[in-house]
Amino acid sequence: MASEPETPGAVAGRWHPPSSSRGVAASMRIDADGVVSVADAEGHLLKEVTLVSVEVSPRVGSIPRRLTFGDGAVFETDDNDGVDRALTPLRRGAGLIHNLELFRPRLAIFVVLVIALAAGIYRYAVPLLVEVAIAATPPVVPRLLSQSALVSLDQTVLSESKLDEPSRAALTEGFAGLAANTPRGAEGYKLNFRDGGSIGPNAFALPDGNLVLTDQLVTMMKDDREAVFGVLAHEIGHVEREHSLRQLYRAAGVTGLVLLIGGDIGSGAEDILVQGAALMSLSYSRHQEAEADRYSVELMHRAGRDPAALARFFEVMRDQFHDTAETDFLSTHPATPQRIEETRRYAEELSKEPAR
Ligand SMILES: [Zn+2]
Repeated sequence: MASEPETPGAVAGRWHPPSSSRGVAASMRIDADGVVSVADAEGHLLKEVTLVSVEVSPRVGSIPRRLTFGDGAVFETDDNDGVDRALTPLRRGAGLIHNLELFRPRLAIFVVLVIALAAGIYRYAVPLLVEVAIAATPPVVPRLLSQSALVSLDQTVLSESKLDEPSRAALTEGFAGLAANTPRGAEGYKLNFRDGGSIGPNAFALPDGNLVLTDQLVTMMKDDREAVFGVLAHEIGHVEREHSLRQLYRAAGVTGLVLLIGGDIGSGAEDILVQGAALMSLSYSRHQEAEADRYSVELMHRAGRDPAALARFFEVMRDQFHDTAETDFLSTHPATPQRIEETRRYAEELSKEPAR
């Protein structure tokens, strides 16, 4: 009888060479680098390969474990604990994926791919689908959306403006000057005056280029017309970057977007999207707000106006309503110190260059 192997960590078992039913007593060990070696009872090396090329059968009750080598040779042992011990140093701290790699390289790759795909859909597919939907949207969709939104607002909160004629004329003229400096041009925009009623000092843009300015906002800014233009330039930024449509499409999710893109977006949009309420219930993301802030600074600068004017508006909003006020404009346009500071900083940076 062969004596028990003396090597520490060695596992006793039987060695079956390829295409041979005859087994011989042998011992197996795995070193720290993941090299598996099998030796016969006299200590002669029978096999030495890396563990990744070896298939280790899973532990099932007391069924003997088999290590199958690439050439068909098999090392078999009843010492289940010994096999687990030999594998342990290699598994330490490596977690699930490493275990899977040891035993089932292909399964591990599959699992990783599935996880990556799922993460990829949310990370990349939605933004990508949103861009496709935006590109596929005919101009009639934002027009319909905007018209129905304005009609429903006029029926509910807004009423006719009481702003004096000279103020309106001055604001309209200045607004046209801003719009003329955008890709859409002055014809792409229209400024609508309204009494804001319960929504108070407010300004918002509809995706077709119609902007609404409330009397209350003009009154609140007193003589600071530039600040009002800063707000309007911010709203133009939302239109230029198509923020409303993006938010709307994002809300539709993957399924909604696929249906929207796959189908006739024009008629589909009428069913799904043409609800003024849906449009108005959306709020812009923080990223979009920052983008519109920068757009305001750039556009004001381009139009030869004060690029930092928007920051003054934020300060008035902050002082007027503090941070506790729940006005629509503040809840969607928080006048955070960071926003004020960032607007000022960017305006200063641009002011060093001459207006184009
Ligand atoms: Zn905004």
